[in-house]
Amino acid sequence: MHPKRTHLQIAKTSQTSKEVWVHCPRCNAAAILFPAAEGRRLSCLKCALEKHYEWNGYLTWPKRDPIDPHTGLSLWLKWPCCGQFVWALNPTQLDVLESYVGADLRPSGTFKQGKFVSWQNSTYENRLPSWMKLARNRRSILKAIERIRRDRPLPAQETS
Ligand SMILES: [Zn+2]
Repeated sequence: MHPKRTHLQIAKTSQTSKEVWVHCPRCNAAAILFPAAEGRRLSCLKCALEKHYEWNGYLTWPKRDPIDPHTGLSLWLKWPCCGQFVWALNPTQLDVLESYVGADLRPSGTFKQGKFVSWQNSTYENRLPSWMKLARNRRSILKAIERIRRDRPLPAQETS
């Protein structure tokens, strides 16, 4: 995969990383959690459920259990892999993960004001669990991502 594409996708992620795709607590279809005043607003893409969740702590990277740590709702984009779960908070992040895992050469750099500078201390890489960075797991992880895409076709997303 061309590194340039990876950089672009990561730049895109920083804008949408606050969106979290989860299972709707009512109909189990895809629902999106948006940042909202003092919490999060859930909006279901199928049954149109709208629900407000109070802010009760900071969002942390889930470890073994692929849930949204803010609401406890099960993540929409996940698949078992290597005794763990491959997961993403949202479709953009899934693209980034695929590019990252699929990249043969990971440039050492990070972003500064939207410009790629160095991967070091990049928030995204730091938050990735170490097993996802192992070369021997790469093939399985990419397969899991493929399964997520097949199993979780994305409904048309409203742009607001
Ligand atoms: Zn629903």
